[in-house]
Amino acid sequence: MGKKIKTVCKYQKDDLLTVEITDIGNDGEGIGKVDGYTLFIKDAVIGDKVSAKIMKAKKNYAYAHLEKVLEPSVHRQEARCPIARQCGGCQLQNMTYERQLEFKQNKVRNNIVRLGGFDESFIDSIMEPIIGMEEPWRYRNKAQYPIGTGKNGKPVAGYYAGRTHSIIPVDDCFIGVEENKEILNVVLAHMEKHGIAAYDEAAGKGLVRHVLIRKGFTSGQIMVCLVINYRGKAVGNSNEFIAAQNELVKKLQNINGMTSISVSINTDKTNVIMGTEIHTIWGKDTISDTLCGLEFEISPLSFYQVNPKQAQRLYEQAITYAGLTGNETVWDLYCGIGTISLAMAKTAGKVYGVEIIPDAIEDAKRNAKRNGLDNAEFFCGKAEEVLPEFYERLSKEAKSEGTIAESGMSGEEDNVKAIHPDVIVVDPPRKGCDEKCLETMLKMSPDRIVYVSCDSATLARDLRILADGGYALNKIRACDMFSWSGHVETVVALNRDHLGTGLVGH
Ligand code: SAH
Repeated sequence: MGKKIKTVCKYQKDDLLTVEITDIGNDGEGIGKVDGYTLFIKDAVIGDKVSAKIMKAKKNYAYAHLEKVLEPSVHRQEARCPIARQCGGCQLQNMTYERQLEFKQNKVRNNIVRLGGFDESFIDSIMEPIIGMEEPWRYRNKAQYPIGTGKNGKPVAGYYAGRTHSIIPVDDCFIGVEENKEILNVVLAHMEKHGIAAYDEAAGKGLVRHVLIRKGFTSGQIMVCLVINYRGKAVGNSNEFIAAQNELVKKLQNINGMTSISVSINTDKTNVIMGTEIHTIWGKDTISDTLCGLEFEISPLSFYQVNPKQAQRLYEQAITYAGLTGNETVWDLYCGIGTISLAMAKTAGKVYGVEIIPDAIEDAKRNAKRNGLDNAEFFCGKAEEVLPEFYERLSKEAKSEGTIAESGMSGEEDNVKAIHPDVIVVDPPRKGCDEKCLETMLKMSPDRIVYVSCDSATLARDLRILADGGYALNKIRACDMFSWSGHVETVVALNRDHLGTGLVGH
């Protein structure tokens, strides 16, 4: 009993194989076959002929390390970043941008077909071309650099090497803004000059943990927030500390666009980056930016889209799919700081937003006010709880309406529209929508559903549920928000299938 049968693998660890890459995996890795045995090879590009060393062998497949490109693919290009392979950030820097877009388009299509069980030619007929970036570099408006101590004892800023806690120094990250480098150089030189220690995770000692940098792309405003392991004035020579701080502020102030400099206090032994206590030490508490014609104020702790240009294009697509004409009632589930809700509120009658994080809801309410939109209402809680509760309560009220007939028709009409809206938009995190949420959406029976997704596998699963519940897929469009990574966003338009087109579920 319990005797383990040893699996005999065709190949073993450290075997060196020559293989042609014929496919691309979910995260952008190369896939090739040797005598029917599948190899997954990170950094290998479709069309390459490579030699690869097996790292982990299973019965039918193995993970292998790319040793050498023997014949490069036409889709291969030199990675722009010298540390692209070590740093966990980009997975596709070796692939041309055009091929990357094709990969993402296919990934969405194949997931919807295979995991959602939809007809291939039907999906091909409703899928629009992916929205690629005009400029795939320097698109991120936010960077959080961990600060550590390099081998030579000097402070370094960089990235955690994929899934580890060791910092790889970064000179310049090409997906971030150019100012990042300048700001980091100032901070690191200042630390070195004053002997200010970087935080040491293992010991829980040292001062500077992270540097957060944000830039408003439309406003040009820049924010720097130093996350420090320091509380109170009694530690060390406080006069010296303050003098050093003033010197640092002076240097940072000179950087073009500098608007806000702050410190965030984080003395916990945790891998959460930001502490909740923030002190502005120079300039404003926030920077501002414009997205979808709305002004947003961003604090170090606020949520905000990291690729605002593409976010705007994705949301414009969602608005088009929502088919707003001026008086519709819309629910925006998983609304974050209300970007989609408010963009839609400009052309809808009434918008209800639901979001689980209280701070985000506070931001959403403030953003509504700042932009003069009084037709948006926000609820804090889980979509799968808020929506069913709201639906049950208002349905009951609607049933007993006879007894409250005089309370005003318009209020009742609003209630009916709230539980049977024109449009429901969802933009859930990677795990997709909760079943209870989807179930309630079906009961509310909106004319249209717009599904914005950052994971096409869970999207496919949820589309199947909505299709089985009577909704027809109308249009699908992928959007690239994170070039050089395997991630892809998608927006899908669904219609209640009143006509019984028969397309549902096919
Ligand atoms: N539409 C938003 C971003 C959506 S990201 C924007 O435009 O900025 C997904 C959001 O869903 C996050 O803000 C996350 O906090 C929230 N969330 C996660 N689980 C949730 C749940 N069960 N119910 C409601 N919101 C949830």
